[in-house]
Amino acid sequence: MDELRRELCEHGRRAAALGLVIGTSGNLSARDGDLVAVTPSGVALDRLRPEDCPIVDLDGRVVEGDRKPSSETAMHLALYASTGAGAVVHTHSVFATVVASTMAELPPIHYNALLLGGAVRVAPYATYGTPELAENVRRALEGRQAALMASHGGVTIGATLEQAFEATRLLEWLCEVYVRALGVGAPAVLTEEQLVAVIERAFSG
Ligand SMILES: [Zn+2]
Repeated sequence: MDELRRELCEHGRRAAALGLVIGTSGNLSARDGDLVAVTPSGVALDRLRPEDCPIVDLDGRVVEGDRKPSSETAMHLALYASTGAGAVVHTHSVFATVVASTMAELPPIHYNALLLGGAVRVAPYATYGTPELAENVRRALEGRQAALMASHGGVTIGATLEQAFEATRLLEWLCEVYVRALGVGAPAVLTEEQLVAVIERAFSG
């Protein structure tokens, strides 16, 4: 778990350096068996120390650490319970939040959207930290690596923290491309047939 705590700090600093999070917004977690290391509530991610990150069990009880777990810990735990994920990253990054505040989904206008599972759904709004929000996000993530959260931000999952983090960077990139494309004209959305052709090509070696 100490290694996971160090990874949380490293990726917290990267998220802040890349402008994906500001101040204390955003939270990350990583799972090992029945335990989850999570970023704490109220500490800026670029100032995080490993010992700041509480370790909780899958019911959210703190088993190690003095700080309060992130207010979105219930959402992280709901995602561990419903997916095989090893890590969860949640941010209020700018373009993800713009799309999440204006659209019902992020349509696939670039084939790299397939790396997240295709069109990215927007989970209906609910107050942060509530079981209702956790459930909305769980449903939006079915069959996907990423979801947007209405009027809130984005969330990604991965087998490792590195994978979940890269999914967050890709989600932000796709949202930025979409928003900028809308400013130029009407972006073409890839058809089912075009997406299938990409998948076939990727698997044909
Ligand atoms: Zn949030």
